[in-house]
Amino acid sequence: MELFDKVKALTEIQATSGFEGPVRDYLKARMVELGYQPEFDGLGGIFVTKASKVENAPRIMIAAHMDEVGFMVSSIKADGTFRVVPLGGWNPLVVSGQRFTLFTRTGKKIPVVTGGLPPHLLRGTGVTPQIPAISDIIFDGAFENAAEAAEFGIAQGDLIIPETETILSANGKNIISKAWDNRYGCLMILELLEFLADKELPVTLIIGANVQEEVGLRGAKVSTTKFNPDLFFAVDCSPASDTFGDDNGRLGEGTTLRFFDPGHIMLPGMKNFLLDTADHAKVKTQVYMAKGGTDAGAAHLANGGVPSTTIGVVARYIHSHQTIFNLDDFLQAQTFLRAIITSLNTEKVAEIKNY
Ligand SMILES: [Zn+2]
Repeated sequence: MELFDKVKALTEIQATSGFEGPVRDYLKARMVELGYQPEFDGLGGIFVTKASKVENAPRIMIAAHMDEVGFMVSSIKADGTFRVVPLGGWNPLVVSGQRFTLFTRTGKKIPVVTGGLPPHLLRGTGVTPQIPAISDIIFDGAFENAAEAAEFGIAQGDLIIPETETILSANGKNIISKAWDNRYGCLMILELLEFLADKELPVTLIIGANVQEEVGLRGAKVSTTKFNPDLFFAVDCSPASDTFGDDNGRLGEGTTLRFFDPGHIMLPGMKNFLLDTADHAKVKTQVYMAKGGTDAGAAHLANGGVPSTTIGVVARYIHSHQTIFNLDDFLQAQTFLRAIITSLNTEKVAEIKNY
């Protein structure tokens, strides 16, 4: 399969926090195809262990997250429209005028749009449009009334997830889709598993994907407890700022080195290891001073402390229906992760753990 087709397959899957099943099923099928036996944590995180033959081999965890930002139906109005609570961080300005899929409890898929107020209805009212609260935005499945919505099986607690077709940009270098945060990571771990299929390594690898990252790094807490790694590498996608007049996180400038995010500081041992490995493997990197966190923030505080980092890329307009990202950035991150994993051994891990 071509890289674009793999990206398209993963980014068009709809799965939000606490409802990761569709991505988990996809990952599981690919893992089994590649000859791995997936295991699950109690909240639905999926991981395979590639055990080393070396005695007391260090345990290295590499984790994506499966969830994308979405919504949950909080109420059904008499007119048959819905109101929601957000699952993950949403800018209210990108929610209106979009298409979504509502998933009922029994798995039925219902098309839904968010209603935006037409200019006609503002004319002459003297009202200036305000930034709406998420709780006020109208989600509309075009039902006659609440009773008809109920007949279609719709109820409070149903999930609503963006619907977007993934396409290639005109210059062929970039992709436009939803959910590159974090199907990027899901593709990275599948590609890594394929790359490692016939390799014997001096470290034991735990490779997979967490649940519920978008609602507060919850899945990473339980998976790191279960799998007890010595080092943790998140693979995740962060916002690019380049079109907003900021050089921090530019498309096409390579994989990110996150020395700092609000919930994680890279330790000196890890920093030296990453800089040396990137240099050696000739990987294009950019320093990224993050304003948000990743699962590395939760993992490094687990089990008495686990040195962690994120092997990342940036994408424009994340947490919306239309995200733009660069194919070469993905390839740089992939080269970097392969170089990292294949250069680890007991001595190297001890060096990295040296704070
Ligand atoms: Zn996110």
